[in-house]
Amino acid sequence: MFDTVTRLLGALLLRLPTWAAVAAIAGTSVALTVGAVLAVHLLGPGYGDGLRRALIMGSVMPLVVSAPVAWVVVGLLRALEREHARALALASHDALTGLANRRTATEQAHRDIDVARRGGRPLAIALLDLDEFKAANDRHGHAVGDALLCATAEACRRTVRAADTVARWGGEEIVIVMPDTDPAGAAALMERLRDAVAASRVAIPSGEAVGCTASIGVAALVQADVAPPTPSVFEKLVATADRAMYDAKRAGRDRVSIAA
Ligand code: GH3
Ligand code: MG
Ligand code: MG
Repeated sequence: MFDTVTRLLGALLLRLPTWAAVAAIAGTSVALTVGAVLAVHLLGPGYGDGLRRALIMGSVMPLVVSAPVAWVVVGLLRALEREHARALALASHDALTGLANRRTATEQAHRDIDVARRGGRPLAIALLDLDEFKAANDRHGHAVGDALLCATAEACRRTVRAADTVARWGGEEIVIVMPDTDPAGAAALMERLRDAVAASRVAIPSGEAVGCTASIGVAALVQADVAPPTPSVFEKLVATADRAMYDAKRAGRDRVSIAA
């Protein structure tokens, strides 16, 4: 009930220009106070002397007016905060897989690269591409392709560590940013991920379960090469990981390749 009234009043106030909304609130409060004073006056002198009446009006009316206004304003601010959080989540994540999107991954990678450079710490980037995914789509349909993408995203989420970022980079490509990880550590982690993807299964309409494999390219941050600006360092790392991923494709797919 209160929520409905809050929503209706809020929607009404938001439709008015700011000056009109303020005038409506101030006008209502003046009208209520004047009305209450007149009502007490009409009841006659039996209702206390002037000072007592003024004190009662002065304490009761602000409460009567400000409480509902505050209720509506706080309700509107809460709704605004919820919508803002929802909009942020939509703008930063991929709708199909729920993974971070390219922009979020890029921003996080820039931060991670800055920290790695300043602290002289290792960092690795991996690019995962599903193998013969077009054929899987053609054979089983787009819905099964979508389910395979979601299963791959889930395998990534299960495998990487809390500090790593996993994001959908493009169609069937996923990028993984691994702070504080040297090439050997990244290779071991990506081998586990390759295994997890190969073991994932989704059901197709006939009742059978199908899966797919992935080729993964890994590139490591080389401290000697990392001249600013950070964005170009990240672009170079992704390009290097992409070349390594194509090496993995050429070598037969379903494998991890580490850039030299
Ligand atoms: P390769 O092993 O060389 O990577 O071959 P591939 O078939 O995986 O590569 P290709 O680039 O030819 O095809 C990628 C396919 O991914 C084509 C496209 O339809 C599919 N794809 C991209 N995004 C989506 C998606 O969101 N859902 C589905 N179902 N398919 C997608
Ligand atoms: Mg691809
Ligand atoms: Mg592919």
